[in-house]
Amino acid sequence: MSATSTLTPSIAIVGAGPLGLATALALTRRGQQVRIFDAHAANAAPQDYRILALSQGSRDLLELLDAWPARLATPISTIHVSQATGFVQTRLSAREQHVAALGYVVAAQAVLDTLRRQAQTQGIAIEYGALVEPGTEAGHFTVSTADGKRHEQAELVIYCEGGVPEAAADLQHDYAQHALLCLASPATPHANHAHERFTPRGPLALLPYGNEYAVVWSVPASEVERLLAADDTVWLAEMNACLPAAERLSGLHERAHYPLGLRMRSQITGPRCVWLGNAAQTLHPVAGQGFNLALRDAWTLAETLTAADDPGAEALLRRYARARRLDRTSTARFTDLLAWGFASSLPGLTPLRDLGLLALETLPPLRQFLARRMIFGARAWP
Ligand SMILES: Cc1cc2nc3c(=O)[nH]c(=O)nc-3n(C[C@H](O)[C@H](O)[C@H](O)COP(=O)(O)OP(=O)(O)OC[C@H]3O[C@@H](n4cnc5c(N)ncnc54)[C@H](O)[C@@H]3O)c2cc1C
Repeated sequence: MSATSTLTPSIAIVGAGPLGLATALALTRRGQQVRIFDAHAANAAPQDYRILALSQGSRDLLELLDAWPARLATPISTIHVSQATGFVQTRLSAREQHVAALGYVVAAQAVLDTLRRQAQTQGIAIEYGALVEPGTEAGHFTVSTADGKRHEQAELVIYCEGGVPEAAADLQHDYAQHALLCLASPATPHANHAHERFTPRGPLALLPYGNEYAVVWSVPASEVERLLAADDTVWLAEMNACLPAAERLSGLHERAHYPLGLRMRSQITGPRCVWLGNAAQTLHPVAGQGFNLALRDAWTLAETLTAADDPGAEALLRRYARARRLDRTSTARFTDLLAWGFASSLPGLTPLRDLGLLALETLPPLRQFLARRMIFGARAWP
């Protein structure tokens, strides 16, 4: 911080979700001083029903933060990719990639609880019931609590708010799809296999979670009302109609739903502020990339700010934005391509998609590239 600055020597993080907490821990580990603000009252945040597929790279990062919920994570040994209307199935396997697992399935709530405990252990200050609004001057913001409004300032404000407001998005795709989530029992034990099944209505993902499958079923927005009102037997019948016999589901519980879309900021830094993870880019969950990408954002930011006297310095923020460009844009494009390409029912697309899957099945280097991309993010680029 410069001698003439009037800013408090600190970093403010907006959002105590999994990303805000992971960012706080990564920065604290690098010697920075942080405070977190969250709009929800303590212990009043809604339950997060999302079940996350996390890469080996994310596990490595969470382990470094002492926040990996090891006992609650189910390893993925194989991912089967196919389309309901096609003939080709391709498989990515941990054995072929010489890794212990292609990824891990863990409840977002378990990740959040583990990070919260670790933040408490590290003595990180979190103010709940504190809604933050950006101020007009760099590093300034207002905090609204039950006691009223007050002004605060920090050298750097990091937004981990979990979304990009429509007005702030430079790139926006409404897939007109919602994700329906549930847990379901596999008709036969899943043996740690995950399935990504592309159907004419949208992708259907089955993730091994304990002895069950965590299901992410993307359906057209026009069908959401009907399906939310329908009972479990309707869900099971409609999902099973898209699945081969060996992957059929039986019991079903813990239903939830989320609207889907892509929203991206092109500028992820501003004067003394930075947007991370979902606050910088909100992705379709088709390839399970959102939080994986967000953790890489947090880690790179912490690395960039190591030993920085002024963590909000423009040159540092520019360096951070440059370092994240390739990973952010390539992950968003890849996710967008899958979400559009495999949900579209344009004539001729089914054989084309089969060709893509066939190329993956028959070309090990391509398969290896895709697997490593999912495991490690942009580090997989040659
Ligand atoms: C259906 C679905 C499936 C997904 N599956 C995967 C997957 O398999 N793998 C994967 O990597 N990712 C996946 N994702 C993405 C992943 O869930 C998110 O990236 C991640 O959970 C977001 O965490 P977060 O901390 O950024 O946001 P959140 O959990 O939304 O937390 C944001 C916090 O910020 C607070 N906040 C917001 N605004 C303010 C404000 N103005 N002032 C103060 N506090 C504020 C909120 O109260 C909240 O606590 C999926 C997403 C969906 C929708």
